[in-house]
Amino acid sequence: MFKADSHIHTVFSADGKQMPEEAIKAAAAAGLSEITVTEHCECNNNAALPPDEEPWPDLDVVNYTKTFEKLRETSPVKINIGLELGQATQGAEYAAKMTAAYKWDFILGSLHNVVNELDFYYIDYKNKDIPALFSQYFDQLYETVLFGGFSSLTHLYYPVRYIYRAGLTVDLSAFDEQIYAVLELCAKKDIGLEINTSALNDKFADFVPGLKYAKMFRSLGGKIITVGSDAHRAERVGLGISEAYEMIKQAGFAEIATFEKQTPVFHKI
Ligand SMILES: [Zn+2]
Ligand SMILES: [Zn+2]
Repeated sequence: MFKADSHIHTVFSADGKQMPEEAIKAAAAAGLSEITVTEHCECNNNAALPPDEEPWPDLDVVNYTKTFEKLRETSPVKINIGLELGQATQGAEYAAKMTAAYKWDFILGSLHNVVNELDFYYIDYKNKDIPALFSQYFDQLYETVLFGGFSSLTHLYYPVRYIYRAGLTVDLSAFDEQIYAVLELCAKKDIGLEINTSALNDKFADFVPGLKYAKMFRSLGGKIITVGSDAHRAERVGLGISEAYEMIKQAGFAEIATFEKQTPVFHKI
């Protein structure tokens, strides 16, 4: 069966813990037909990192792309070379520069922090108005989709992971109107929706987004679904992909997409 993991980080991302060769080996072992590497490209110049955190260097586009082009020649698994474009609206010029820096196969759009806030990873939620923060997040996610420059929207409700880690809960349905607007805009702009499987492994949810929002996307005319593990280490490559395909079928989709030179290629699931 066709199986692709379209969201993988290696050491070319500051938080990546696997070598490119390890990722490919893990993908082959997991029975994947295809992977897409999507190294981080954060557009906000480290503005969302705490002061004591080592700043992330810019993505080394030349070294990154050349490395995977070379590995492609011998890899048993098809390799697409992509980007995870973070906070594009918080650094529009840099975003434009990086998206034009290579003929990327695929670009994921993401939002890891709202303006003038830390990355959700670093926030101390005990002193925060969580609903207000979520509302800001979905507003700015809408702006990110409006800005565009990417093929699929990753981890639709990224902050949830850290709310649960802090031992708190959040009722996402309170934000359904905003989520609806984000998904409607994606569908209108032919931007895909990523089903991120990392939640399954972190045990706070099954997928991000889950069945309810996958169905919502479909009802709004969304056609492009991509699936990724968001693996930062080898043991997570390909995890949850088959399970995600089952959920996607349940939501009414018959195909998932991978991307080549930013053009979707559809695969029956
Ligand atoms: Zn991300
Ligand atoms: Zn990622």
